[in-house]
Amino acid sequence: MDDLSTQNFTTPMIKQYLDIKKRYEDCIIFFRLGDFYEMFFDDAKVGSRVLNITLTSRDRGSDGKIPMAGIPYHAVDNYLAKLVKSGYKVAICEQLSDPKGPGLVKRDVVRIVTPGTILNEKSLDQNENNFIVSFYIQNRMLGFVGADLSTGAFYLAQFENSNIEQTLIDELYKFNPSECVLPPNLYNKPNILKIIKSHKSINIFCFQDAEDYINNASNYLNSHFKVQTFKGFGISDDNLALKPASVLLGYLKYTQKNKVSHIKEIKLYNDDDHLVLNQATIVNLELFSTIRETNRQGSLINHLDITSTAMGARMLKSWILKPLIKKEEILERHNIVEKMIKERNLRKDLIYTLKEINDIERLLSRLATGLGNPKDLIGLKQSLIKSQIIKEKTKGIKDPFIKKINQQISTESKKIIEEIEKTIIEDPPFDPKQGGLANKNINAKLDELREKIKSSKDWIAKLEKTERERTGIGSLKIKFNKVFGYYIEISKANLPLAPNDYFRKQTLVNAERFITPELKKHEEIILRAEEKTKEIEYKIFLNLIDFILLYTVNIQKTSESLAKLDCILDLVQIAETNNYCKPEIADSGQIYIKEGRHPVVEKTLEGRDFVSNDTLLDSKENQLLVITGPNMAGKSVYIRQTALIVLMAQIGSFVPAKEAKISIVDKIFVRSGANDVISSGLSTFMVEMVEAANILNNATSNSLIVMDEVGRGTSTYDGISIAKSIAEYLITNQKASPKTLFATHYHELQTLEKEFPKKAKNLSMAVDKNLDKLIFLYKVIPGGAEASYGIEVAKLAGIPKEVIIRANEILKEMENTNFNTPLKPSKGKSEKGKYETLIREIKNLNINNIKPLEALNILAEIQREIKDKD
Ligand code: ADP
Ligand code: MG
Repeated sequence: MDDLSTQNFTTPMIKQYLDIKKRYEDCIIFFRLGDFYEMFFDDAKVGSRVLNITLTSRDRGSDGKIPMAGIPYHAVDNYLAKLVKSGYKVAICEQLSDPKGPGLVKRDVVRIVTPGTILNEKSLDQNENNFIVSFYIQNRMLGFVGADLSTGAFYLAQFENSNIEQTLIDELYKFNPSECVLPPNLYNKPNILKIIKSHKSINIFCFQDAEDYINNASNYLNSHFKVQTFKGFGISDDNLALKPASVLLGYLKYTQKNKVSHIKEIKLYNDDDHLVLNQATIVNLELFSTIRETNRQGSLINHLDITSTAMGARMLKSWILKPLIKKEEILERHNIVEKMIKERNLRKDLIYTLKEINDIERLLSRLATGLGNPKDLIGLKQSLIKSQIIKEKTKGIKDPFIKKINQQISTESKKIIEEIEKTIIEDPPFDPKQGGLANKNINAKLDELREKIKSSKDWIAKLEKTERERTGIGSLKIKFNKVFGYYIEISKANLPLAPNDYFRKQTLVNAERFITPELKKHEEIILRAEEKTKEIEYKIFLNLIDFILLYTVNIQKTSESLAKLDCILDLVQIAETNNYCKPEIADSGQIYIKEGRHPVVEKTLEGRDFVSNDTLLDSKENQLLVITGPNMAGKSVYIRQTALIVLMAQIGSFVPAKEAKISIVDKIFVRSGANDVISSGLSTFMVEMVEAANILNNATSNSLIVMDEVGRGTSTYDGISIAKSIAEYLITNQKASPKTLFATHYHELQTLEKEFPKKAKNLSMAVDKNLDKLIFLYKVIPGGAEASYGIEVAKLAGIPKEVIIRANEILKEMENTNFNTPLKPSKGKSEKGKYETLIREIKNLNINNIKPLEALNILAEIQREIKDKD
């Protein structure tokens, strides 16, 4: 670290720099110097390393050599993206006075760019929100807030429960933020920091001013949102989340230098206003990425998302994350999906128009934060024109959902369209400061200046012709460059013909350049007028943006409606192409699915058909279904498809089934012991048990639980004992009898049906065991499975014949010694205990992933172990 305080820097610019750096200590300063942003001292070292640019060290006179690294201003977006992605904050320090003017150029920070506030298009995924979050904890209460500066979204919620840490983990997972901003007191708590850090790709920053924003939360928020109370947003004024909301808004304003006028609304979300999914459930159902490769490919969203707009794609994600629980709202979506399936032409027509609509939300955010360019205005105009076409086309549809959408597409847009049309030319430049963006007839002074420029340019254009005639030099040219302005160029050969009234300006190898007083006079007129037109046009541009921002709410509502329409049409297309059925929303407490399919798996089976299955769950005889069967028989697929069908129904989607009657579910829990999700240093088994505890403590009679191979992470007897007692608890708990699917390789759990005939049912996966080959039928049938066919599965997987034969021998031996039937848990290092370990190891072998050679080695190892014991 350079210790800047002990040195006395004397050059005014370096003094100015240090002054600014002191105010933005935790940022890398991009210090504008002409056409470059320069970094100095330690910033330069970091910058050169991260950005892979040259570290120089320029001699600054009395200040000696100072490390520097610079980037050209026009490429700033790429460099910013890189630094911010690496977890740095960058303060952009611009020149605020005319660099040509006398004295030191005025400079100050105009924006701070952080992972959660970066707005340039290249850094943002258009299908994803870029959330920045904050929170506050008081007693057993959590106030959580998440905002997306790039769309203007601002959400908050208050949670009160026995496991606030878990809630925090879940919320972080759902928002998937790129940045978390904390007040110093939370930032300094190691246990809190550890929770946040366990979330991948998050950057955590401390906000020093946070305390003020917490203490004056309501004043501060009231004045931003221009309200007296938050009741209008449906938020009670003592909601704990208002504190972090104030912190987050304060931070956003600090980074954007107050330009956040597009944050107009706080949206309250509560766990009781949508179907609740926790982190484990989202992971295990592979809603947004697959477990194995964490790919989007293979996830539910990848299958469902064929939206036409970026806003629609982001909304669909939020629909999946927060499915509905109010019957009327669900029915509304089902009904419009049904209706639009029949309206084929209209639907195609609407989708065609939607596809031409830009990311209105983000366009608007760029305008509001001062990052918009003239092309954005044209993009906005064109999109708003399309919005009006959609409004027109949906006018006639008699449906409550469409009616709301139609009404929310604002007609005020016409004013914006008109104003942009009137003001900006159709194909304007990117840079609003370079002129050439404004139309004729909107500013008299501008027209006058342009007229002046034109006549001088005309004069110069004619000059070439007249001078050629006068001098007799056919190749004489009038040219322009930035250094010399306009000049007359004559080749060396023609030099003797140059008239006396030409003033020599520059000599090249083959040519000579001249000027004349008259040419310079016209040049002066042009340059001065151009300077002025640029100023005027920039003002016109800014005024237009101010005008547009008056309609922020209208534009946001329009954008939201288009997104909703996009999502609905998406679901329509999906339902049609995949042959889904309209689910019925029931009040019976039953979940009945006839010929259900797994929406994603059915698409991935190559060359064979997916076998559909029925499901019946209720809070009585079918409260807990125990599903047994060999590995690879389809248990996991079956129980997940049930959860996915319920989830899809509550999103408003049609479902992959012949028929479905769904009683609304308040929470879905999916716990899987079959895959290791290693997080926060806990052992797999510990994670499994923490999640199981969470389920047992929070499930209600309206919840749906999917337990897949629970207890697999520990020894067989432990595993069976825990799995069985969890199942018993779910059946006997007086407070709640959640509907449960319990897939297990522990055949011992089949006794539950006998023990609790009024609650539990045995199901198994049908197999056809021919003489020498096991065939999976993927059909769920009543009753428990007879055996686990592990060796047969190994055979199917291509394990060499010798291994299979030997495995059968070993199995026989063990069956004879009776070691594979459950015994009482072993004490100490008894012989039985050793065998138990062996059996567990065999059971835990992931046959699908084993190469034949490995299998042989394992087998040899097993043999050695057994021989040792003999
Ligand atoms: P288990 O959990 O019983 O070990 P899985 O549910 O993981 O088995 O299923 C294993 C494989 O079997 C799946 O990857 C899929 O390819 C196939 N499969 C599962 N269910 C079906 C089905 N209903 N129809 C066709 N193939 C299926
Ligand atoms: Mg499985």
